[in-house]
Amino acid sequence: MSRAGAELRILFSPGRVQLVQEEVLVQGPKVLVTGATGLLGRAVCREFQTGGWVVVGTGYRRARPRFLRCDLTDEDAIRRLLQENKPDVIIHCAAERRPDVVDTCTEATINLNVQASSTLAKEAAVVGALLLYISTDYVFDGRNPPYGEDDSPNPLNMYGRSKLEGEREVQRHCPGALILRVPVLFGEVESVTESAVTSLWLKVQEATEESCTLDHLYQRFPTDTRSVAAVCRKLAERARQDPSIRGIFHFSAKEQMTKYQMAVSMAQAFNLPSNHLLPLMEVPAGSAPRPINSQLNCSRLELLNLSVEPPPFISAISDCLWPFSPDKRWKQTVFH
Ligand code: NAP
Repeated sequence: MSRAGAELRILFSPGRVQLVQEEVLVQGPKVLVTGATGLLGRAVCREFQTGGWVVVGTGYRRARPRFLRCDLTDEDAIRRLLQENKPDVIIHCAAERRPDVVDTCTEATINLNVQASSTLAKEAAVVGALLLYISTDYVFDGRNPPYGEDDSPNPLNMYGRSKLEGEREVQRHCPGALILRVPVLFGEVESVTESAVTSLWLKVQEATEESCTLDHLYQRFPTDTRSVAAVCRKLAERARQDPSIRGIFHFSAKEQMTKYQMAVSMAQAFNLPSNHLLPLMEVPAGSAPRPINSQLNCSRLELLNLSVEPPPFISAISDCLWPFSPDKRWKQTVFH
């Protein structure tokens, strides 16, 4: 994207000198967003576009027609992507982030979460781009929260291990890189199943005589993608000015909720019944192990004034879910 600006020019012609004001296109700095088709990548693209950056987004299966298609597991493709686009900043969102899928597709996950991050870091160093790698609270085991950036990671599942390996590769090849760890995310979705948080909407709507159990053991801090995207832009803009801004940062919303509490909150937001929802205090059988409470301490970002105040869960989740509400008039009646 480019911005219009005004420039004064002096024109010399025989017998007169003329001062004219011309509209010129002022190019902002360029950001490359990997995973631009994904839940977080879409919000990141929008945030940087709004901020006047030139945005180049890449996707894979959903890339066309809006974004560049680039298989990040292909080293040559990454090299070409960076050489052809020469970004000032790269926000690396692409990853396999579903722990249960990771356990069944381990090799593909390592290729994307670790190898692609490693290649991207090497090539970012070659073109002199600032790299921001998105990571996760799942690098911690959840036994001793809250976790600061310097606390020792100890991932419980393959997904957490792959993201931690990705962090290490990024730091090894690109010492000036930024790493932003975030907890479970929700945002504008193409279908409610796209995020673990909005998926709960299906359970909320099952208000029949059948009851429905929902996890009430694992403590989560659901965070909206718009806030994460805003932090990415703040971090990138500050780090371009100040090379001491590098390394690991944590960002998270502050409201602590189990899945059961999130679902009850959704029901309240839409005036729907919630008495069919029942809290479950047992570890679900057969799924990848997850941390009980991997709360992130975000004071490093806050002290540097690089944080944002996320909206309350109930209002942010209402924004995401209203397109899936059976009564579309809800939006008008509540907000206007
Ligand atoms: P997502 O919605 O699952 O999106 C994944 C992205 O990766 C998509 O854009 C996908 O492209 C792309 N991708 C997959 N395989 C690829 C390949 N071989 N080459 C290039 N691109 C490929 O993920 P997200 O939720 O936005 O997650 C963004 C980041 O946040 C990840 O690093 C994740 O680990 C981290 N994170 C997410 C959560 C969460 O709750 N979602 C929580 C903590 C941390 P196509 O769809 O076009 O194929």
